[in-house]
Amino acid sequence: MSIAGRSIAGRFAPSPTGPLHRGSLVAALASWLDVRSHGPEARWLVRIEDADTERCLPGMSEVILAQLAACALIPDEAPVWQTQRTGFYERALEQLQSRQLAYPCGCTRKDIDEALARAGVSHARHAERVYPGTCRHGLNGKPARAWRFAAEKFAAASGLTPVRWTDRRLGPQSQDVARDVGDFVLRRADGPWTYQLAVVVDDALQGITDVVRGEDLADNTARQILLQRALGFDTPRYLHAPVVLAPDGQKLSKQNGATPIDTSTPAAALRELEAAARVLGLPAAATPATNASDALTAWVAPWRDLYNPAP
Ligand SMILES: [Zn+2]
Repeated sequence: MSIAGRSIAGRFAPSPTGPLHRGSLVAALASWLDVRSHGPEARWLVRIEDADTERCLPGMSEVILAQLAACALIPDEAPVWQTQRTGFYERALEQLQSRQLAYPCGCTRKDIDEALARAGVSHARHAERVYPGTCRHGLNGKPARAWRFAAEKFAAASGLTPVRWTDRRLGPQSQDVARDVGDFVLRRADGPWTYQLAVVVDDALQGITDVVRGEDLADNTARQILLQRALGFDTPRYLHAPVVLAPDGQKLSKQNGATPIDTSTPAAALRELEAAARVLGLPAAATPATNASDALTAWVAPWRDLYNPAP
């Protein structure tokens, strides 16, 4: 099967900031099942998202890969690390710079708050600040702190106000990136590439046709579609899977005490997979599987019924 002649590929893209927890296992399982539901030629890839190097922990990618292997989630190709792919991000930024679709920004967080206050815009204390476009026409002598994507200019020129897409689970979606986010950061001056640029370049160059990830990442999609268009990349299909909530109702994360999944024995790994499958709404098998590999195989048909309805 293919999308516009391309062979189907999906990926799981963990950040090596801690071991896999129940929430990240749900995303891994969802992306694996989606690829397998497209047949034996579809490819499931693992990409270690370590572009944001400050938060990454040494040795953690090996821990994650071992946890996946214990759950019989084995990538079809060798995993890749974003920190080994910075040349690709460099070229994408150069392409945007040469077309005046990226510009340097010298604003501190305080500068942005002050500009928003002057414009009479208030924002909730922890809400994302909408960049007011201060440096669009020059730095005014300030040192560059970041490179920003000229999202507002590109969206207006391309008629992408708003960006519209259809999520395979959530249905029709739209976001006006200029209004809700503003010109967003592609690279910080001290070096690190942002998630937005790295994920768009990697998904395109790895031939990802189906992005299956947690619903907490759904609000990044419009930004990523804008960048794909600006860079001449195809837009993949998107499916945002249910996320596991912590007891406080927040998304389960390493920050609010998500514990690592237990893969110490094959039986423990199977129990973790069964819990993840329940989050995805997959029915329990009539005959319980005795190992991770059999359980995975048994969920492929129910996944197809739930998430891949015939067009
Ligand atoms: Zn600025």
